[in-house]
Amino acid sequence: MTFTASEATLPQTRHLATAVPGPRSRDLHAERRQQVSSGFGTVLPVFIERAEGGILQDVDGNRFIDFASGIAVTSVGASNARVRERVAAQLERFTHTCFMVTEYESFTQVCRWLNEHTPGTFEKRTALFSTGAEAVENAVKIARAATGRPNVLVFDEAYHGRSLLTMAMTAKENPYRLNFGPLPGEVLRAPSANPLRPSRAFVPGADPAAAALAGVEELLSEHGAGSFAAMVIEPIQGEGGFVVPAPGFLQGLRSLADQHGIVLVIDEIQAGMGRTGTLYASEHEGVAGDITLSAKALAGGLPLSAVTGRADLMDAVHTGGLGGTYAGNPLACEAALAVFEEFEDGTLLANARAIEETVREVLEPLVAQVPAVAEFRGRGAMLALEFADPETLEPRADLAQAASAACHAQGVLTLTCGTYGNVIRLLPPLVIPRDLLLDGLHVLRSAILEAAANS
Ligand code: PMP
Repeated sequence: MTFTASEATLPQTRHLATAVPGPRSRDLHAERRQQVSSGFGTVLPVFIERAEGGILQDVDGNRFIDFASGIAVTSVGASNARVRERVAAQLERFTHTCFMVTEYESFTQVCRWLNEHTPGTFEKRTALFSTGAEAVENAVKIARAATGRPNVLVFDEAYHGRSLLTMAMTAKENPYRLNFGPLPGEVLRAPSANPLRPSRAFVPGADPAAAALAGVEELLSEHGAGSFAAMVIEPIQGEGGFVVPAPGFLQGLRSLADQHGIVLVIDEIQAGMGRTGTLYASEHEGVAGDITLSAKALAGGLPLSAVTGRADLMDAVHTGGLGGTYAGNPLACEAALAVFEEFEDGTLLANARAIEETVREVLEPLVAQVPAVAEFRGRGAMLALEFADPETLEPRADLAQAASAACHAQGVLTLTCGTYGNVIRLLPPLVIPRDLLLDGLHVLRSAILEAAANS
């Protein structure tokens, strides 16, 4: 059972009833500024009343095409029928017991599905938490407990969260780390294998994966490979710019991890759960992490995250060493079981691949047509355009921001990302109807052509 536009109760069409933001959103935003910490930013200051399929409807009656999915979360749709039914039934039974106090079966069922479906044929165990950052932090705790080593290796352009440890693992200074130091130690950064912007270690003409791997080896020998508990890598770097690592990079990391007894942690929080057309993005590279992290799309919008890994690692932690009051909340576990059912017949994965085809058809020609469109990249329904000067590769954040703002004004919710803020990324729900996708893509295409012509 996947969503079809004809079953929707919210019309699956873009509609502008007012200017964006409309008067009610403006009033609510003014009130928000009085009540909410200024530390929270907002991509588009409209207040959402309902969301379904590929549409977000605001309090002024505007309907936006959703190219964000709440940052890769609502892949099955923001009001998926199965998720609603399972969560509603659970609401009738109980909302919480705390799994560390008394147990419930849905927690184990979610763990079983993840043990069976994450890459790697070895025996696995799973631990559930609430947020992505918590999953990352717990993976580090587990790797340290299992290896008895302190250091954590991360990469340029990485994003792993905003908590104190994950903020140190995240690469970008502003806004994530600025003013929030001192940062925890034992986090060391190696080059990533960005094909468009090769690493510090890159020698022109060299293979970008090999060059980045040489940088990793250098860091390992500098600090002593035996001091590293974990390497943590995103199979496609999300906030860092939808960077698909050069072919061979993930496999190279797998070999280095094996060679030095380092736990390879694959952070699939943004790229996983079907987003790229396979359940996990690391499958495209034929690589299995010792630990794989899931969150975001795992529970259709309810807060749930998971650390799934080799049984020997996951069981190396002393009893009581992992947990959290809300870890694996029963409403979130039911939502995840609904999401798993949605993935069962393969339609959503096929949708992700079909979305890629459609987006490619409309947007990829811009690389040849518009000099400042430096690259079209990504996989499945995780796709992006990077804007840069064609001669110098100087990032053109101005173009990404202008095109994105024009989309917002016309009812298309786009997001930007990248170390330099010069990337427009697309993360539509996997259930977006094709007509709606095409409408949004044509708005985006025109916005890019116009921004480029005016610059
Ligand atoms: N890792 C990756 C790859 C992410 O994209 C994110 C969220 N953008 C996180 C970790 C952190 O997740 P959360 O915001 O749920 O803590």
